[in-house]
Amino acid sequence: MIDPAEREPVHRYADRTTPRLERRKLGRTGLMVSELGFGASPLGGVFRPDIDESDACQAVHEALYDYGINVFDTSPYYGHTRSEVVLGKALARLGERDDYVLATKVGRYGADNFDFSKERVRQSVEASMERLGVRRLDLVQCHDVEFAPTRQIIVEEALPALSQLRQEGIIGAIGITGYPLSIYRDVIESSPVELDAVLSYCHGCLCDTSLVDSGVLAYLTDCGIGVLNASPLSMGLLTARGPPSWHPAPETLKQHCHNTAEWFAKQRASTRACTDIAELALQFAVLRLGREGVASTLVGIDSTETLRRNAAALMAPLDEELLAGVQRLLAPVRNLSWSSGTPRSVWLNDPPNNERPLAAT
Ligand code: NAD
Repeated sequence: MIDPAEREPVHRYADRTTPRLERRKLGRTGLMVSELGFGASPLGGVFRPDIDESDACQAVHEALYDYGINVFDTSPYYGHTRSEVVLGKALARLGERDDYVLATKVGRYGADNFDFSKERVRQSVEASMERLGVRRLDLVQCHDVEFAPTRQIIVEEALPALSQLRQEGIIGAIGITGYPLSIYRDVIESSPVELDAVLSYCHGCLCDTSLVDSGVLAYLTDCGIGVLNASPLSMGLLTARGPPSWHPAPETLKQHCHNTAEWFAKQRASTRACTDIAELALQFAVLRLGREGVASTLVGIDSTETLRRNAAALMAPLDEELLAGVQRLLAPVRNLSWSSGTPRSVWLNDPPNNERPLAAT
């Protein structure tokens, strides 16, 4: 534990030359979040196992104090709790708890390990707070709800349990995360408790803008729900290094992204605006899509180097010619998605209580 006297003063970034990122309302939660958020799944070794923990802790510190990135997103699932443990070490070096917005999740604990029961939700929140070294959480979301056996357990157990914790003041806001865009409305309209936020991923990026195109972003913002747009690099598809082996995208999407990254690398010598396809992808997600109603775009940060490159990219102008070239190459696979979770017909099968037919006597 760091001596409080050694802590960096709050808002040190204000004295730096680095411009501060915009802050936006997260729906009606009262929370203000930076337009770029710190995705902490890489701290769990999700993308590469060789994470330098001390550098990662420094990245968390710099994110808040040098760049004004005040929202940190994690989950017990990431690296089997390692992300929360590493983030907890980093948070112990930060100043006041009110300076940052801390988000974690419940319900997903392994690739095939899900438990959205009300008992586990409460246990999970307590265990997360222990690992993160905090006594309250700003946002807790049901993680990847499409993998629940049915929607019923989300709306009748997990969300009411989170709502109870919200009432007790242990958590500030509640929500859901998941890949299929259709599930948000399904849950919102059948939930007896009000949702504060939704985290969507891989649908608000260079190769997939369906979060906006489908009208789902507008629907969510009209409902007053704060939207987090995660994975602006589509979990590695839009990087020079390419995606991890577990990436679920269809082969044709992977191939188009790979070809686009190669094309981009060839163009790079002739531009000073961006040095990497990842940086263009980040600019597009934050500076274009991010300004259509998203509260914060969450990018995975694994080191001070990644943090600094991404922060610098947002300060640089977006190269319209390169963007047009990349969009042209990705056009054949634009909005191509993959299946995720329980088949929808099964997931919807159990109607919530108020629609359930009377049991036969
Ligand atoms: P991403 O698209 O943000 O990043 C993918 C990979 O690219 C990561 O390894 C990242 O460290 C790396 N990267 C970042 N900047 C880079 C750069 N400039 N150059 C090269 N590589 C760079 O994907 P992500 O990390 O999966 O998503 C961001 C965050 O959103 C996650 O950490 C997590 O907090 C959240 N998320 C949640 C869900 C969910 O709830 N179901 C799903 C996906 C993401």
